[in-house]
Amino acid sequence: MFIDIASVIVRAGKGGNGIVSFHTARGLPKGGPDGGDGGHGGDVVFIASTNENTLANFRYQKELVAEDGKAGGAAKMHGRNGKALEIKVPVGTQISNDGVIIADFVHPEQQVVVAKGGKGGFGNAHFTSSTRQAPKVAEKGELGDEHEFSLELKMIADVGLVGMPNAGKSTLLAHVSNARPEIANYAFTTLRPNLGVVKIEKGKELLFADIPGLIEGASEGKGLGDDFLRHVERTKVLLHMIDAYSNDIVKAYTTIQEELKAYKIDMSTKPQLVVINKIDGLDDEIVADLQSQLKKATGIANIYAISAVSGAGLQKILYAASEQVEKLKKQEALQQAEESEALPVITINDEHDDVVTVDYDEVKNSAVIRGKKIERFAARTDFESEDGVRRLRDIMRKMGILKLVEKAQVDHMAKIYFGDNREDYMEY
Ligand code: GDP
Ligand code: MG
Repeated sequence: MFIDIASVIVRAGKGGNGIVSFHTARGLPKGGPDGGDGGHGGDVVFIASTNENTLANFRYQKELVAEDGKAGGAAKMHGRNGKALEIKVPVGTQISNDGVIIADFVHPEQQVVVAKGGKGGFGNAHFTSSTRQAPKVAEKGELGDEHEFSLELKMIADVGLVGMPNAGKSTLLAHVSNARPEIANYAFTTLRPNLGVVKIEKGKELLFADIPGLIEGASEGKGLGDDFLRHVERTKVLLHMIDAYSNDIVKAYTTIQEELKAYKIDMSTKPQLVVINKIDGLDDEIVADLQSQLKKATGIANIYAISAVSGAGLQKILYAASEQVEKLKKQEALQQAEESEALPVITINDEHDDVVTVDYDEVKNSAVIRGKKIERFAARTDFESEDGVRRLRDIMRKMGILKLVEKAQVDHMAKIYFGDNREDYMEY
């Protein structure tokens, strides 16, 4: 397999703050509260794209941040929502968080929301009640989710090169491919497949894989990981290379066919181009004879003849391979359109196991309250505002947190912090 790895930190946008404002109109000394809500922060979304080939972009850009929501305005004006950040990754990318795979992109345009933007804070227009006519409280916007993800690209080659050792697979790949993506070591075997991007014509490229382990490994019963097989399986077309100097050219062909059949997944039924290699230095009649031997044995009308060294006949097989791949891609696209399930939208959410703890430090006379939900409320609270703190205290009471604080015997003058690394605190 051909793995490309990157890790990124994504941060969804912060929600905009709600504001405190009172309606002003000529001749009206004291208008009602009209502070608008903040806009929501932008989400972070991964999208599978066929326009991307590697994860190289993420090597230099590790932190990806979506736009924040804007603050609300007077006259109940809602702040603008932050734009979502859409991150394009190649089809074949797996995204995981803490070892858990949350997305496995196999089709173009699949997408997953990996970080939700923070909610915008309510403006004071929201907080009127019969007993509170002139609320001076507005919420701050919530922070957006922040997560770290590992990206793993398992490239799916369009064309797999198979054939006996020495058939000329590596030579062919070196001849036709001009670029090689940077590839990490295949983790499960010491065999290292080579990849080559082959330009067919302008704007048209195929990914070739020379998979040395496919045959040699299989025949010796070497265990290639299931992942490896999965990607071999996804290879669209096989290019079966046969050495023109084989003692028995038909036997060389059938040996490989048997191996392909004996594979966990029957690979012998995959679309295949059968190619005789090393025709440089051979008479045309000999080549024609070899071709007809193979034709008879295989029933395949079109047996190609090339020289990986001189380049003779290469254009022809590249076009043929490209045509096959295109055809299969079109079929797949049709199938997908039929299936067309709703694309998954996954959101990472760990509030269900929200545990609230209170840590009291008597010497510093300060306590830290930890817990996802209450930390989020605290993040939305404007600690400068009496009304804001009062509201937070109400929420703490409702959530049973004040009881916990009492239990922890927190002193009455103690400072109470919410979560780590926060500067805001309230006095108990
Ligand atoms: P692989 O084991 O299938 O990857 O085969 P290699 O690409 O390593 O080639 C095996 C040997 O065949 C090498 O010595 C190559 O130089 C030689 N070879 C490959 N292609 C040709 C060709 O088209 N003509 C000739 N004369 N030799 C070739
Ligand atoms: Mg080789």
